Amino acid sequence: MADNAEKPMVKSSKDVPWCKSLESLPVFTKKEIDEHRSKSGKRKADDTSKPIKKTLKRGLKFQEERYLSSDTVYTKVLSNSFMVRAKCRASMSTREIHDLEVSLDLTSGSVMVAHCTCKAGNSGYCNHIMCLLLELARYSLEELDRVPEEAACTSMSRKWGIPGKI
Ligand SMILES: [Zn+2]
Repeated sequence: MADNAEKPMVKSSKDVPWCKSLESLPVFTKKEIDEHRSKSGKRKADDTSKPIKKTLKRGLKFQEERYLSSDTVYTKVLSNSFMVRAKCRASMSTREIHDLEVSLDLTSGSVMVAHCTCKAGNSGYCNHIMCLLLELARYSLEELDRVPEEAACTSMSRKWGIPGKI
């Protein structure tokens, strides 16, 4: 009966279903984000003009404006990595959606793989990936054990905001 309690041997990544659990999310902070940024920067040593700081700022803006809805965020644990996938709006002016995938080291939290379907995303570093990393850092900071529903936090603050309505 309880065959989801203990599954024998994971065969491939496809056997593990995506879920909303954050229980295995490693500690993920700005430190790990910075580490990923500097690594991506080095990979492009020939392109010194790459505006790394701009990407962080834009990632923050994307997060603030909810380009990336937490409803699209799914996770799974595979051997020693914590995998996350999400969808992010390409930009303000378009309805284009990009697919993102990020793998974190389960113990250290460092970014092992990052990929986005946008042009810049092949390098593992773009506004959308930054946005997702910031979102994960928030989950880690708030010690969430599940990906929150996108509307949850706003509706709750609204509920508090309504004075004595019965
Ligand atoms: Zn991208």
